[in-house]
Amino acid sequence: MTSDLPKPPCIALLGTSPTLDLDAFIGDQFRALSPGIDLRFPQDLGCLEDIEAALCWFPPHGVLKKLPNLRLIQSLSAGIDHITADADLPRTIPVCRIVDTTVEEGMASYVTWAVIQHHRGMRVYQANAAEAVWKQQPTVWPRDHRVGIAGLGVLGLACARALSSVGYPVSGWNSRPKADLPPYVRAFHGEEQLGDFLAECSSLICLLPLTDQTRGFLGAKVFSQLPRGAHLVNVARGAHLVESDLLAALEGGQLSGATLDAFSQEPLPKDHPFWADPRIVVTPHIAAHTDPRIIAQQTLENLALILQGQRPPTCADLGQGY
Ligand code: NDP
Repeated sequence: MTSDLPKPPCIALLGTSPTLDLDAFIGDQFRALSPGIDLRFPQDLGCLEDIEAALCWFPPHGVLKKLPNLRLIQSLSAGIDHITADADLPRTIPVCRIVDTTVEEGMASYVTWAVIQHHRGMRVYQANAAEAVWKQQPTVWPRDHRVGIAGLGVLGLACARALSSVGYPVSGWNSRPKADLPPYVRAFHGEEQLGDFLAECSSLICLLPLTDQTRGFLGAKVFSQLPRGAHLVNVARGAHLVESDLLAALEGGQLSGATLDAFSQEPLPKDHPFWADPRIVVTPHIAAHTDPRIIAQQTLENLALILQGQRPPTCADLGQGY
């Protein structure tokens, strides 16, 4: 695979996340795939002219624009919002995201678990089991619990397939009509169909990319259009959610529960009210991690394609913001 590159590349690993050490996470994967690779880090980028690609997870703002020979900006994940947040992003350089079946499998399994644990009342059984209480709850069949996926893209479709295979009817909502959707998905699009989409969702899954259009999407207006007692799953980004609106919707009974994997502030502060709320399940942004071997491989492949004058298939559309 590395033979596609004319020489071992120079790649900057740019991150500011306090919970991720990029060298420990992925340095050895790059070295294994490309012996002689020149990896650079924000604390000492060395000669900026050398750097051909930047692998990013919340890159420090203003650094990318200082790299005169940069050919590729590679996101560590499926989302690119942590890159487009840089006001000085050089917008002529291709920004690629990770698209891989391991991410789809991770997301599909998480979302299926989230829907089942709420719909089947599994937390009640866990609490009962701790006290040796044998008590069945009334059955609600999966076919009577429609799951709506806002953002039916690569990951949304993988979730739709998994949910449908265990009996849940699935709807999807995008900004534009989508061709070639599987027959088990009821499709909606645009603002004009949002109300009809939401009105059917016993569970609402948010898998939208974070853009200026989708920030704060999960707020009072959307919650009020869901069936009373609906369940929310946010596996996209924390900034999609208006936290005070969620707490109000839970308090008023409009929502019966929420399963949240992404937060505006990560790690979620210890004194945050979500932790102690029995209606909310918190997980620490683990829905779908990307295998570092895949990230290193796709980064090197994308750089090789660009150096050959081709556009990698996973390039994001910066005009759309995802
Ligand atoms: P895709 O780009 O494949 O899909 C995004 C979908 O959202 C598209 O179908 C798009 O449809 C739709 N969409 C975009 N903007 C709007 C809008 N304004 N209104 C309605 N629909 C819209 O992305 P992925 O499925 O690969 O990833 C989705 C997100 O999942 C990522 O951006 C990331 O934030 C999150 N994620 C979370 C992870 C976790 O561990 N929690 C892991 C990986 C990803 P259209 O083209 O018609 O607009």
